[in-house]
Amino acid sequence: MTPRNKPEALYLHVPFCRSICYYCDFTHVMYRKETADAWLDALEKEFASREFNPGLKTVYIGGGTPTSLSEEQLERLLSFLDPYTSHVSEYTCEINPETMNETKAQILFQHGVNRVSIGFQTDNAKLLKNMGRHHTVNDVKHVMDLLRKTGISNISLDLMYSLPEQTMEDLETAIRTAVSLNPSHLSLYSLTVEENTVFGKRGYKSLDEEMEADMYEYICQTLPSYGFHQYEVSNFAKDGFESQHNKVYWTYRDFYGVSCGASGKEGYTRYDVTSSLKKYLENPLERDEILLEKEDAMFEMVMMNLRLKAGMEKSLFEETFGIRFEEAFRGKYETLTEQGLLEVSQTHVKCTEKGFPVLNSVLEELL
Ligand code: SF4
Repeated sequence: MTPRNKPEALYLHVPFCRSICYYCDFTHVMYRKETADAWLDALEKEFASREFNPGLKTVYIGGGTPTSLSEEQLERLLSFLDPYTSHVSEYTCEINPETMNETKAQILFQHGVNRVSIGFQTDNAKLLKNMGRHHTVNDVKHVMDLLRKTGISNISLDLMYSLPEQTMEDLETAIRTAVSLNPSHLSLYSLTVEENTVFGKRGYKSLDEEMEADMYEYICQTLPSYGFHQYEVSNFAKDGFESQHNKVYWTYRDFYGVSCGASGKEGYTRYDVTSSLKKYLENPLERDEILLEKEDAMFEMVMMNLRLKAGMEKSLFEETFGIRFEEAFRGKYETLTEQGLLEVSQTHVKCTEKGFPVLNSVLEELL
């Protein structure tokens, strides 16, 4: 991979939650004030020991639940980040409606956060309860009103589908309700039941593949009629509101990963900061690194970019690896273009309308 500029994106993971959702497989521990204070101390040590690009363009604080921190801790975290966010154009924080209030909204706004992502999931009270979520759709609405009043109006909602017992009518209602709240961006993820989650341990299953595919088709056909264009497999935005930070991942550009449970990528090195909070508190620089082979990195770049409706810029691939896409994937891509699943133009490689729903099969062929 040719040397590139330093990463312009930073992801920071807040590993605490106030309650645990039954489907969740992310790195998180139950919030305790003393532990969160110790984590902030360790985070400051991590920042002090690492060098970051002073010209970061996007910062994303995710989790866990960033808003599970107390007001004082949130203020401390964001004050600490201030010197790194002066050039940032998109500054996102994930929010759980259960742990948000007016003071926290003001803290976010005062420190320059200009985009939030809220876990809406569904508007169905029974399904929310089954998932171990303790908020209602009115809580989401209340938090959105608070944020807008404070000055943060770029709001994304996360929805989930293929939930146990969810019907197509449930999904239709959830989408109608979500859209009525006037977000600028929607992410829709199908449930995957992991063994180590409460769902997994209880033997819960997501819906069958056919129903899941029907739901996905419904989502892709319906959201554009509400003014949300699909720009990635699971993401839909109003014009001008695509997530700049997440596009860094999908275009396979480099990004810093900071804090317990975060991942980063710099050149051929991918790394995971330890997901054990205990280890992180002892040594905030504890991480696993993987050095990618060039062939693996080339495939990963194509794999990520094909998630985007616009596909991959061929010039970016060539600049990165010093080889044209057609040469690197000779003997693998031609059948896909003949079958009408992949389109290779002068400038881009992208899935066709026919290829996009079967992206995994397209990628298998390229692998
Ligand atoms: S709030 Fe988010 S990170 Fe925490 S348990 Fe629920 S889904 Fe997982």
